[in-house]
Amino acid sequence: MTEITLPDGQRLLDAILEQAFNSVVITDARFDHGGPLIEKCNPAFCRMTGYPAAELIGQSPRILQGPETDPAVIERLRNCLHEGRFFQGATVNYRKDGTPYNVEWNISPIRDSQGAIRHFVSLQQNITARVQAESERNLMARALNVARDPILITDAHARIVFANQAFEQLTGYESTEILGRTPKFLQSGQQADDFYSLLKDALARGQAFRATFANLRKGGDIYYADQSITPINDAGGTVRHFVSISKDVTHKVMQEQQLSEEASRDPLTGLFNRRTGERILARAHQAATTDDRPFAVLIADIDHFKQVNDQHGHASGDRVLQQVANVMKNQIRETDRAIRWGGEEFLVVLDNASKNDALSTAERIRAAVEAISDFEVGPITLSLGCGQWQPVESPEALVRRVDIALYAAKKSGRNRVQTAANGSATGPGDAVS
Ligand code: GH3
Ligand code: MG
Ligand code: MG
Repeated sequence: MTEITLPDGQRLLDAILEQAFNSVVITDARFDHGGPLIEKCNPAFCRMTGYPAAELIGQSPRILQGPETDPAVIERLRNCLHEGRFFQGATVNYRKDGTPYNVEWNISPIRDSQGAIRHFVSLQQNITARVQAESERNLMARALNVARDPILITDAHARIVFANQAFEQLTGYESTEILGRTPKFLQSGQQADDFYSLLKDALARGQAFRATFANLRKGGDIYYADQSITPINDAGGTVRHFVSISKDVTHKVMQEQQLSEEASRDPLTGLFNRRTGERILARAHQAATTDDRPFAVLIADIDHFKQVNDQHGHASGDRVLQQVANVMKNQIRETDRAIRWGGEEFLVVLDNASKNDALSTAERIRAAVEAISDFEVGPITLSLGCGQWQPVESPEALVRRVDIALYAAKKSGRNRVQTAANGSATGPGDAVS
């Protein structure tokens, strides 16, 4: 190989060694005198190690090793050198002043024309900054993973790129089965209509979105989470990720639901109380006017109930009220609502029902109550009025109309059902039974 020289007469290979960014160190290939020993090294190697070249020449590169140098890597290096194989590895070395640094290096054996190894040449690089950045990233990932609050990270297209252990525990999903998917599969359908568009709008404006989410676990159960979703920008200000941090509030929400459920019930009978009943009526009225879904109402009043109290005492009266309430619960459809409207007066709102539906339900209730025989009080009966909502009629007007029918049922002998007259409710309805 002809020697290439620079115009100033300097040998090219020397100039390369001198000016290379990477550290280069050349050793002999002898193992008999504590070697291989350094024969030559470049300024980059001196800068990396902190040793002047004069202190390195004739030394073993072992002087760079210290307590955190990985013995397994060194063992592998030694084997490679002995077997004349290429080595590549990374470990911790120490500068002259004792400060550790991460080095990544390789060693090639240099053979003469006979194939005998005469030197080793090693290219080295200080990778401390990269190792530190990596270990910070690992630390972050571990910290996110052990955080008690569920954390989910998606890319800009809402595809999941990370889910921590708390998220896995809360939802029942392994992160491996959800990576790459969008979090849509968590939706329970219980959120208000505009919920997800509000969420999308906030994130599109680069703002965080906070709300209580009703989501689905893997098994299909609902869980509630106070969740904040925040866009994460890159250095250029472009949204690259979204991070969602939640707090599991399932227990609290369930308790609140139970409390409001209890507040809506009459404690003696378990039926809805009057206040809730008025709301149920208002909602049925709303649905009837907006969705063209007429509803019906029946009102029942126990016959001669004062006598029950007077003859058998208040406790027996309460027991009869409970028995009648149970009949109501059993005789109505799941979409109907039974309300304790007054002392011994009950009102049932029948969703999406005709006049005949109301009449047959009322008749079923009447017959079922007639069939009760309290062990102390004996037979019980009640009277009922029923009617279907008419367009433009207010809930109060409908109740009044049905109440008049009930009064008519009482007057015509009790233990009977009377349908309400149409319109202004002046005419008599049709008496049944
Ligand atoms: P009618 O056939 O005309 O309905 O006769 P009635 O005796 O049932 O007459 P009314 O409706 O006026 O009587 C209602 C009675 O219900 C009066 C009240 O003492 C009793 N009552 C109201 N609330 C309760 C309750 O919570 N427990 C008990 N034991 N009695 C109640
Ligand atoms: Mg009454
Ligand atoms: Mg009564």
